Amino acid sequence: MKEYLTDKINDLPASATLTMAAKARELKNSGIDIIGLSLGEPDFDIPTYIKEGAIKAINDNYNSYTPVDGYIDLKESICNKFKRDNKIIYSPNQIVVSTGAKQSIANAVQALVKPGEEVILLSPYWVSYSAIVLMADGIPKIIESDINTNFKVSAEQIEKEISNKTKMVIINSPNNPSGSVYTKEELEQIAAVLKKYSGIFILSDEIYEHINYGVEHFSFARIDGMYDRTITVNGVAKAFAMTGWRIGYLGAPEWIAKACTKLQGQVTSGANCIAQKATIIALNEPVEKIKYMVKEFEERKKLITKLLNDIKGFKLNNPDGAFYVFPDVSYYFGKKIDDININNASDFAMLILEKAHVATVTGDAFGCPKNIRISYAASKENIIEAISRIKKILD
Ligand code: GLU
Repeated sequence: MKEYLTDKINDLPASATLTMAAKARELKNSGIDIIGLSLGEPDFDIPTYIKEGAIKAINDNYNSYTPVDGYIDLKESICNKFKRDNKIIYSPNQIVVSTGAKQSIANAVQALVKPGEEVILLSPYWVSYSAIVLMADGIPKIIESDINTNFKVSAEQIEKEISNKTKMVIINSPNNPSGSVYTKEELEQIAAVLKKYSGIFILSDEIYEHINYGVEHFSFARIDGMYDRTITVNGVAKAFAMTGWRIGYLGAPEWIAKACTKLQGQVTSGANCIAQKATIIALNEPVEKIKYMVKEFEERKKLITKLLNDIKGFKLNNPDGAFYVFPDVSYYFGKKIDDININNASDFAMLILEKAHVATVTGDAFGCPKNIRISYAASKENIIEAISRIKKILD
């Protein structure tokens, strides 16, 4: 039936993160004891005050379509959040609430990137950026990095990649999958390059803002001269353990926000009404209330990096944020383990899924073919068991 589908859909890669999660779920349902470390999904319960906000919204009969760009009181809360946490001043007409940060990113790319225009992605990059650019008929231009630069790309590397077709640069800090956090100075150096070229927009994906273990989070739109060209994307999935509630948002110059609203109005309409009301509570309460999760993630990070560093051939950076480790496993390429030839990171991820029953994601999907991504948004018990299973197979 493939011939009935469009070339665009046939050529589109499936999301590697979601594919691996589905595979793990399927194996689990068939009775295999799989430990899922593929998805970036906090295992915490949603804080009670947020749940109560949702229950109140249901009891208050919030059941109608919402404004396409979100409830006004939610947009005001988002403006206050941007002012409080990021020192960026947006007004509600610059905010668009969407069904997850993924939709916010897709809206902005669809609104700005014309066919044949280039979007610079800093590798490692989150799996869906390249697919979203391709869906807009844009061209992803990938700048490589590796563990030697702590998976960061320099301003000079970006400048070398700029052409007269460059339309956008996507920056994700804290980064999924490397956990690297770009410093204020590094971002200012990138901005200094971009200032020289007009017509290049910056999509700053800050969804892991609060999952940060020390390097100060700095919003790109704060940098002198960048506000008018930056789309700041965030959401409640990661910091508030609200992945399934699907609320993301962006702040941008009003003309971009309006374009995103127009697009969203033809595709999905406004995001879920109950989840929007719960998000108001999540954002209005002090950030300190969710710090216990960050503290726990930091402990898990220490645990998993220690355990992985004990495995022969694993090379790791020390992530400053998010909840992933991204080891280079290329030591095992060209080797045969349990009758399975390991030629690349996908083979390696399949080996540990099939033999150790641990789900991870291949680094190819993030632009780093020597690595695999392991999520530590899982209990310490599961982390210990998963890494010991992996070690056993490799030993
Ligand atoms: N952003 C998460 C991850 O990278 C969720 C899955 C997805 O949407 O890709 O695991």
